[in-house]
Amino acid sequence: MDNMPNTALTSPVDSGDGPKRFNITFRAGLLNETISEWASWKENTCFTRTTDSSYAVRVEGGNLDAILYVLLHEATHVVDAVMNVTPHASENTHSLNRHRSPKMFGVR
Ligand SMILES: [Zn+2]
Repeated sequence: MDNMPNTALTSPVDSGDGPKRFNITFRAGLLNETISEWASWKENTCFTRTTDSSYAVRVEGGNLDAILYVLLHEATHVVDAVMNVTPHASENTHSLNRHRSPKMFGVR
């Protein structure tokens, strides 16, 4: 996708009772970047460069395609969701509402 503000986004697809499915959307420009270019851009998003600043952040990570690293990252989110490794925040809230007294824990 063009003009995404971030690099990639993994989102679940309603797959009914079948196996869980996901969409992974990538910023199109990523396909033309090496891991060094992408990581340098990403690290620089943490800073606001002033007009007279002489600092620069540059990551040297070789010339492999950035998509390899980003796809691995996003695929890990899929594994996490399928294997329920990280509890989902809404499940915690649901659990609190169902199993604990709202008065006792201040949950409405
Ligand atoms: Zn992520």
